[in-house]
Amino acid sequence: MCSKKKKRILTGDRPTGRLHLGHYVGSLQNRVNLQYKYDTFLIIADVQALTTNFEQPEKLSEDVRQVAKDYLAVGIDPEETTIFVQSLVPEIAELTIFYSMIVTVNQLKRNPTIKSESAQYGYDDMTYGFLGYPVSQAADITFCKAHLVPVGEDQLPHIEQTRKIVRKFNQMYATVFPEPEALVSDFPRLVGLDGQSKMSKSLNNAIYLNDSRKEVKEKISQAVTDPARIRIDDPGHPEVCTVFEYHKAFNKENVKEIEENCRGGKIGCVACKKQLDGAINDFLDPFRERRVKYINDPSLVDDILISGTRKAREIAGETIAEVREAMKINYFNE
Ligand code: ATP
Ligand code: MG
Repeated sequence: MCSKKKKRILTGDRPTGRLHLGHYVGSLQNRVNLQYKYDTFLIIADVQALTTNFEQPEKLSEDVRQVAKDYLAVGIDPEETTIFVQSLVPEIAELTIFYSMIVTVNQLKRNPTIKSESAQYGYDDMTYGFLGYPVSQAADITFCKAHLVPVGEDQLPHIEQTRKIVRKFNQMYATVFPEPEALVSDFPRLVGLDGQSKMSKSLNNAIYLNDSRKEVKEKISQAVTDPARIRIDDPGHPEVCTVFEYHKAFNKENVKEIEENCRGGKIGCVACKKQLDGAINDFLDPFRERRVKYINDPSLVDDILISGTRKAREIAGETIAEVREAMKINYFNE
């Protein structure tokens, strides 16, 4: 049967800890939907994690598996999506080296995301690896000749950098790569439990996908609400309330009623939070159910990673052969 080949997607995460509800609404949910429509490659970018966490490489072994479990729990289907580990595809490192010859240091230094992240991490003298991670990302995207890259807005400069590299490579040597396009997530950042910044694992304001029912309940009970509301019958201001933000995301059926009751001073914050922790826990239950099998038998997770990585490597080997041919450095198989 002749079926049109699906376009390919590359996306992924740095394994730096557990994934949270912000990751789910901002990217995971979209990936679950896209996997049926596209040939999806999901990279667990352990080398990129080392660009900031190089002092604790021993954490990766746990974190790589943690991210994989979170993926499987939310419904990433290993039959549809190739989940693989970056450092176990050494051809990506090889491509990174070749690309690093055609990217200038000034291009990297001007990258606005590199600028803001290096400021955030307090790097006044950044490592070569950190400065160069957009080059390594270009290799992640192109080793499998991805057409589309679903990303948050902060990643756009990196996709632009990848496109530059691809154009230069194709033009200078031979056309090997498609020019990848970004698929930007339009979901606004989910706010953290502190109500101050986006939900983020380093800010200690996150609800994790593997939090227990009890943990979710406790976290919601401490979430920041409308500070102007002191008594139950004070009229509330849902537009400034973190709990209301979460109702909008995870309790869509009841959000209108909650808004009216809050504005009318007819529902107190305690009752409102109770409804929310119920809704979030119901939302997380299917993830919890899917996770059980992997907790009971962690070798299933390893098998999925091993077989995904094997597939990624086969493709990477083919790409590197083309790259060497294009560069005329395939000395002994001409
Ligand atoms: P860290 O604290 O290590 O920076 P984090 O929890 O902020 O971790 P990142 O690894 O920076 O998460 O995020 C990776 C991607 O996940 C982002 O580019 C974005 O697409 C998505 N994401 C993370 N946090 C949120 C959020 N609060 N709302 C929506 N999307 C998010
Ligand atoms: Mg972050």
